[in-house]
Amino acid sequence: KGRVLIIGAGGVGTVVAKKVAMNSDVFTDIMLASRTKSKCDAIAADIKNVKIKTAQVDADSVEDLVRLFNDFKPELVINVALPYQDLTIMDACLECGVNYLDTANYEPLDEAKFEYHWQWAYQERFKEAGLTAILGCGFDPGVTNIFTAHAAKHHFDEIHYLDIVDCNAGDHHKAFATNFNPEINIREITQKGKYWEDGKWIETEPQEIHKTLNYPEVGPRESYLLYHEELESLTKNFPTLRRARFWMTFGQEYLTHLRVIQNIGMASIVPIMYEGREIVPIQFLKAVLPDPGELGENYTGQTSIGCRIRGIKDGKERTYYIYNNCSHEAAYKETGAQGVSYTTGVPATIGAMMFFKGLWRKPGVFNVEEFDPDPFMEQLNKQGLPWHELFDIDLEL
Ligand code: NDP
Repeated sequence: KGRVLIIGAGGVGTVVAKKVAMNSDVFTDIMLASRTKSKCDAIAADIKNVKIKTAQVDADSVEDLVRLFNDFKPELVINVALPYQDLTIMDACLECGVNYLDTANYEPLDEAKFEYHWQWAYQERFKEAGLTAILGCGFDPGVTNIFTAHAAKHHFDEIHYLDIVDCNAGDHHKAFATNFNPEINIREITQKGKYWEDGKWIETEPQEIHKTLNYPEVGPRESYLLYHEELESLTKNFPTLRRARFWMTFGQEYLTHLRVIQNIGMASIVPIMYEGREIVPIQFLKAVLPDPGELGENYTGQTSIGCRIRGIKDGKERTYYIYNNCSHEAAYKETGAQGVSYTTGVPATIGAMMFFKGLWRKPGVFNVEEFDPDPFMEQLNKQGLPWHELFDIDLEL
């Protein structure tokens, strides 16, 4: 029996609900819960092959979550709400004996940190309770960690240089929109850049380091070094890494909008008083920007995300590039969501599948590279995110 509770009914939640329903041999009882129940009902109404229960929940409230968990009695929660809810959901899991999976690290509302320590601090409690917590099981973090684990297991004796390259060559035909939750997205891009070299973190100004990289089936795109949360767990779990960096492509239009948004103070996470009530500028901005979940309809082009790795195999230096390309149009056709939601929701579903099949199940809190990558890699090919490998090529980095 696979009793699963999905929390969050945004772009990613839509994909998870649909993919979970497509794998009803593994997921036998499904509930979708979120802050706005009507969004869950709309997604559930679109799913014909199995019946999905829906519920309203405030995931900021442990009490509310506990009530829901005791009512539905899930074995696993897939958390695709926002990073702010990670800890309350983990607390409720401990209280009710439920296993946990998410796609983004916990973020306090008033700081933009992208650090794992809050969640890693649950290690002993999950272990003692005999419960599994799987952290960061989207695409990046998620598949990029698993790609790295796959490379380390099958193609290298030691990995030395890792560059995660994330290209969105899609066009949503809007002047400015973010591909996932705007608050989290803008926080991530406007913070300082950071990478790992020779045993320490090196900080850069936002977008200070950039380079033109060539992406398969896409071509050259300007790529900007930024800090991304999987670098923290990967450098810890693969201590042979001498350098680890993360690159993401941005168009000029996007960067110009972003600069203006920042300059006028709209990217701020510090509350201000407005007409007698406190508002957070970036939360107000979110309310006026296009909903990432609604971008799918006219989205063309594709994403291309992968890992470029240099290291040693049998005493010789080797280069290796593993990647997936995902078409926004194909993602929309299959799930009604765009490629960024798709590339996050499919891995979350596969991670949950690994749990229910008993392949990724051990008491404690783990990042995905700490599990066996093989069965996950096999499912990526079956569930819509096929991967490709290139050996001994110029990595450009
Ligand atoms: P959306 O903003 O589209 O959706 C978030 C959903 O969570 C909404 O349905 C929202 O409800 C719900 N929610 C927010 N607060 C609460 C709450 N207190 N209680 C219950 N539900 C709540 O975001 P996305 O779907 O784009 O992203 C979901 C998650 O996936 C995020 O954590 C994001 O960081 C992560 N992500 C990870 C990626 C990866 O590769 N690892 C890539 C992209 C995203 P409402 O509808 O009422 O607002």
